[in-house]
Amino acid sequence: MKSVKLNGKYFDLLIDEDEIKKIIRNLSKTINEDYSDKNPIVIAILDGAYVFAADLVRKFDFAHQFKFVKISSYKGMESTGQISLQLDLDISVEGEDILIIEDIVDTGVTLHQYLELLKTQNPTSIRICSFLMKPDAIQKPDLKINYCGKSIANEFVIGYGLDWDYRGRNYASIYQLRKES
Ligand code: IMP
Repeated sequence: MKSVKLNGKYFDLLIDEDEIKKIIRNLSKTINEDYSDKNPIVIAILDGAYVFAADLVRKFDFAHQFKFVKISSYKGMESTGQISLQLDLDISVEGEDILIIEDIVDTGVTLHQYLELLKTQNPTSIRICSFLMKPDAIQKPDLKINYCGKSIANEFVIGYGLDWDYRGRNYASIYQLRKES
């Protein structure tokens, strides 16, 4: 599909399924090399990262524990700037290597705040893998994204797990909000 309509607005194709597969292949190759001698705890951030995480971890060839946390900061198309932790870890991360899987880094506020929280639990290392990031939107320049699938413009996108008010997550490709819609 070249475009989709959601809640009366049009979204145009930005990243198709083939490109998504290529991104996953490239990311997993690097991550597999970096974690070949480690047994990290992989933490995927709900809700948006569930599709990406499912694809990515199936390409991992190192042993790891997998957990979800649920953090939210968005209402509609705007970041609220404040995070709420709706599902926390039920295992200790002390002395562990942590790999966080996120769908998209926009302002960076969500991950920055979550990282501060995780660091108080003394993990050995924390790295971040985000499928997308919007460099022009970032408000936390010191937030290091160790593995980034693709940088995109500062526009709202849906699909491949990303939603607009809980809709649109099921699209297999990523679509960008059409400007005049
Ligand atoms: P941040 O705190 O501004 O970096 O926002 C991160 C979270 O906002 C992501 O995990 C997404 O859930 C959501 N988000 C940011 N940009 C978009 C977008 O373009 N579409 C859908 N969700 C988004």
